[in-house]
Amino acid sequence: MQIADNTAVSIHYTLTNDQGEVLDSSDGGDALVYLHGSGNIISGLEAALIGKKVGDKLNVRIEPQDAYGVVSDDMVQVISKDMFEGVDHIEVGMQFHADVSHGPGIVTVVNIDGDNVTIDGNHPLAGEALTFDVEIVEVRAATKEELDHGHVHGAGCHH
Ligand SMILES: [Zn+2]
Repeated sequence: MQIADNTAVSIHYTLTNDQGEVLDSSDGGDALVYLHGSGNIISGLEAALIGKKVGDKLNVRIEPQDAYGVVSDDMVQVISKDMFEGVDHIEVGMQFHADVSHGPGIVTVVNIDGDNVTIDGNHPLAGEALTFDVEIVEVRAATKEELDHGHVHGAGCHH
């Protein structure tokens, strides 16, 4: 069976950036299982996997706009220190969960100037081209329930 919309796909992968640093890998762990065609994984990788089958290997470099997006200045804002309720000490590099313009996400403190704190809500991998080394482990038809839910069931499932 080939990878197409509405298939449940298992892959092993290693993710590196342009500097050759390994950012993430399924090596030594469970394969990543996702529902193809539902936006479960970044769009560039999903597109590269179409038509592949079990045993296929691929190495694909994905531009930022098809990965975690380009860096957007709109995602950087200056807020008052008072906004950090319950945090005694704020330092550059600290990360917080916050409701940012596109929904819940992680913001990073990038600068502190008196009571003004600059936070950056860009994804940590925004602006990075990502290279995936992938091996396809399993491809099967998704069940009706999985299609209804928009994700794959089984190991690691939220149910
Ligand atoms: Zn479900």
